[in-house]
Amino acid sequence: MNLFDHLPDPPETKTAEDPNALYADVALHLPVDREFQYRVPEGLRERVTLGARVRVPFRNRAVTGFCVGLSSKKQFDRVKDLEAVVDDTPLLSDLLLDLARWIAKRYVCSVGEALAAVLPLSVRRERAARTVAWVVPAADTETLRAARDERAESRPAQARVLTEMLEGPEGMEASALRRTIGCSDSPLRTLARAGLVAIEQRRAAAIESVARPTAPKRELVLTDEQRRALERVLAAIEARHATTFLVHGATGSGKTEVYLRAIEAVVAAGRQAIVLVPEISLTPQTVSRFRERFDRVAVLHSHLTDADRREQWREIRAGKADVVIGARSAVFAPTPDLGLIVIDEEHESSFKQNTTPRYHARDAAVERARRLAIPLLLGSATPSMESWQAAERGTYERLDMPHRVDSLALPRVEIVDTADEPREHGPPPLIGRRLHLAMEDALAKREQILLFLNRRGHSTFLCCTRCGHVVKCSRCDITLTFHRRRRRASCHYCSYETDPPVRCPACRGHSVRYLGAGTEKIEDEVASRFPEAVVARLDSDTARKRGALEATLDDFRDRRTDILVGTQMIAKGLDFPDVTVVGIISADVTLNLPDFRAAERTFQLVAQVAGRAGRSRKGGMVIVQTLQPGHACIQRAARHDFTGFAQDELPAREEMRYPPFVRLLRILLQGKDEQRVSKLAGAVRASLESKLRPENLLGPGPAPLAYVDQRFRYHLLVKSETGDTFREVAKRTRETCARTRDVTVTLDVDPTDTL
Ligand code: ADP
Ligand code: ZN
Repeated sequence: MNLFDHLPDPPETKTAEDPNALYADVALHLPVDREFQYRVPEGLRERVTLGARVRVPFRNRAVTGFCVGLSSKKQFDRVKDLEAVVDDTPLLSDLLLDLARWIAKRYVCSVGEALAAVLPLSVRRERAARTVAWVVPAADTETLRAARDERAESRPAQARVLTEMLEGPEGMEASALRRTIGCSDSPLRTLARAGLVAIEQRRAAAIESVARPTAPKRELVLTDEQRRALERVLAAIEARHATTFLVHGATGSGKTEVYLRAIEAVVAAGRQAIVLVPEISLTPQTVSRFRERFDRVAVLHSHLTDADRREQWREIRAGKADVVIGARSAVFAPTPDLGLIVIDEEHESSFKQNTTPRYHARDAAVERARRLAIPLLLGSATPSMESWQAAERGTYERLDMPHRVDSLALPRVEIVDTADEPREHGPPPLIGRRLHLAMEDALAKREQILLFLNRRGHSTFLCCTRCGHVVKCSRCDITLTFHRRRRRASCHYCSYETDPPVRCPACRGHSVRYLGAGTEKIEDEVASRFPEAVVARLDSDTARKRGALEATLDDFRDRRTDILVGTQMIAKGLDFPDVTVVGIISADVTLNLPDFRAAERTFQLVAQVAGRAGRSRKGGMVIVQTLQPGHACIQRAARHDFTGFAQDELPAREEMRYPPFVRLLRILLQGKDEQRVSKLAGAVRASLESKLRPENLLGPGPAPLAYVDQRFRYHLLVKSETGDTFREVAKRTRETCARTRDVTVTLDVDPTDTL
């Protein structure tokens, strides 16, 4: 579908003031850079407000949009009438509407599209709130008692329901009542017909109020570093300063404790706090650290039902949650009196949304905090180059916490050159000598081990040794990964799956070798080397089943597992004191990606995984296997030297003119016909050349992932110091592409990668 296909021609601009008329600007969920004006008929004038949903005619249909502006100025000659106002009280506060406008501007989309991020779909859709059935007594105690006695013999289930009703006037939730008695709905309905009980629909509470544990936990004495950091944050909360703090704290330095204390101050003042964590860190372990301290915690999980999400949204808006924890989109939680935003692991790329609107939650948080004059706390052991540079420039205030609590040392990291491993023929062993010995040692002492490899599946490379053919996805230019448990070869970029080839698809020979290792192969290797040890695996394959992630982590915490093999899902936040050995099977996976953030990503992963070791007096060690032992980024990570890494990396970025020194707009064109894609990419370039300096326009060329899901991918990169050219570039690009139906264009401002 093309962007402009379904739109009317741009109307003639004719501004006419009419003091007796009222016009509404309506944001529709369409990829166009403007709002649509409608006349507010007499009867609706009283009801329409900014931020309310309205029904309007659009291309012979009635659609719902948001009223984002009201005026007495008519913009166009022909203006249709608003059909209805959906909300009496607007769904959107001025602040959230304002944030949506900011997103639209910064990420070159429409306000209507931006609103899709700000308001959950379930809230935007008009449907009734989720209710639960309650059974309450409908007659006086005398009558109920008599009715019960009458039924004691003949209708025992009804008698027992009545006994419950005699407990008190508040009654009982129908499902709980059925469970208690072990009956169906029918006795309830019979009693309701007899006028003895009533069945009411009540709104379900979405935010559980959990009583704090009665036994107070040992009150931690803050370290000097924690205390100093906290003081700065408390001062900003008190003074209502929109300071952005970058808490640069080593893994295990007690950053979370600083967040918790700052939130305590905010909640004590009757205000709310929002805590953003990466989606994969939104585990029960994380949540319980907050639930232990605060009564009313709302958790915005991605697997909430629509009804729950909507109800939670309403309750948060009503001020019924003191702390809101969630992934990216929680930055828009409608807290009525927000006092603080915290973003843990702020460097994580999952804070950037990779569908329209492609906003970054960190930047949205900066905006929200600025508008509310509240502090924002960004925390990480490995900050993003963007945040680090902002702190260097003095835009953010840095709070350093270089030491672990309890004077625990950071673990020793050994780099092992994979090329040095002794081997007979074929590839080097997956687990080298050094790592094997360390594992043996740890197992003998009944300690635990984490093995990290950022690739799932069994074999990542299926190759014919006779003709050299590499088995690729039929829809992408990407090698298939063999999944042994499922006995399938699958593509990690599209949904394509096939039976693993027995014969080479090219030469029909029987010599297909299964090379390259993913987490499944490591798991097998560990099981064969250490048959006595219990091994578990955690990656997006094993975590697909609901509850599996929690169960695997629980097993590991409770020491039912000795060795945990996993992808980046095990890299973050896990705090297991008995882990003494961490092995990074290959640090090269991310290092060789053709992307300007490859070194940053690798440093982050190695440092984060290393941080899982030695979180108790038992100490710990980390073994990093790599083919590039001399690479500066791996050397720095081995010394836990983030500052040194930033000192290497930032000048390189400045030299190459990459973020954080410039901002990027990536224009990605995808289509089935390569000729047409490349031709259109050329036309986009031509339309931009007059507007941009040559050094600010790169490409077009095939993207590093050049063919995915049967579509050819070409891209261009636009650079700008401030991003002020992006809107104009987006406009021209959309115009250039408007008439080409079979090529889609994606405009990604501040992309997290350029693959
Ligand atoms: P980070 O988030 O920086 O990795 P955490 O906040 O998870 O670190 O803290 C690591 C561990 O240290 C946790 O078990 C936490 O309860 C504990 N801890 C935090 N602060 C202190 C302190 N001041 N004294 C003792 N233990 C602490
Ligand atoms: Zn594919």
